[in-house]
Amino acid sequence: MHIAFIGLGNMGAPMARNLLKAGHALTVFDLNVAALEALRADGAAVADTARKAVAEADFVITMLPAAAHVRTAYLGEHGVLAGVRAGVPLVDSSTIDPATVRELAAAAASHGNPLADAPVSGGTGGAQAGTLTFMVGADAALFERVKPVLAGMGRNIVHCGDTGTGQVAKICNNLILGISMIGVSEAMALGVRLGIDANVLAGIVNTSTGRCWSSDTYNPYPGVIDTAPAARGYSGGFGADLMLKDLGLANDAAKSVRQPLFLGALAQQVYQAMSHAGDGQLDFSGVIRQYLAAGSQS
Ligand code: NAD
Repeated sequence: MHIAFIGLGNMGAPMARNLLKAGHALTVFDLNVAALEALRADGAAVADTARKAVAEADFVITMLPAAAHVRTAYLGEHGVLAGVRAGVPLVDSSTIDPATVRELAAAAASHGNPLADAPVSGGTGGAQAGTLTFMVGADAALFERVKPVLAGMGRNIVHCGDTGTGQVAKICNNLILGISMIGVSEAMALGVRLGIDANVLAGIVNTSTGRCWSSDTYNPYPGVIDTAPAARGYSGGFGADLMLKDLGLANDAAKSVRQPLFLGALAQQVYQAMSHAGDGQLDFSGVIRQYLAAGSQS
């Protein structure tokens, strides 16, 4: 199949490479020329606008930072809808708000193109390994069309419901994750400060009711898990600024239906403080440093 792939960042570049490995012909576009040239070296054709990238495509995938970028890529003068053939399915895998997805899907439908939202979890490691989970919002027929292509980049391709529900699933998952990481950070920092060894405490938590992914796979306390970002100064992983963005999406979506998010709002402020302190590029588990710093000062 001839696929157009737009957005070759930390996630998009390895996803695009997996599509090449799966045997698809790829035309790619990114504003970053270095990212384009790297994919050219791997066998992709490159285009200098989204419009040109999609002209011959049978399938279009976008993987962009936030809603504003996705709008430009689809609706801009040199965007996807200006160049794509009618009937070609469009898949946006960026993490954005459900309302923008539904608006873009309506615009795409008026051009004769079905659009699915398919945000991912699994991080850059999952993107490289081709083991991402895709949360797909689409009608049943569109889901069946997009599933085989997404299977070239992921292990779990989940149909969440109609357009926009993939983003709903993604936002709710990251709401839990952002909050749970702060909870584990508080407890680990408190326990160590009160005199228990970090590994002993983590071992107890991970066989008790406090256990969660933030404690047993991605523990934020240094020295507990060798493969976690805490073991490498919180470099790599999932940036705090991206978590801040996702909590913003959750809070905005909650506002639109007037649902309170007591902890979600507080968690947003905690990551905002981390970003304000200049640590927004660190992995989000570095949020524990706010507790460790406070402890070491007294
Ligand atoms: P990134 O910032 O590394 O890459 C984004 C790419 O989009 C960049 O190469 C940029 O040049 C390009 N771009 C921006 N505007 C463009 C436009 N109008 N046209 C063409 N290219 C454009 O971001 P990422 O880490 O790859 O994340 C992409 C999306 O995936 C985000 O929505 C993010 O929240 C989500 N996500 C990221 C992770 C992660 O671990 N990084 C995990 C799950 C989901």
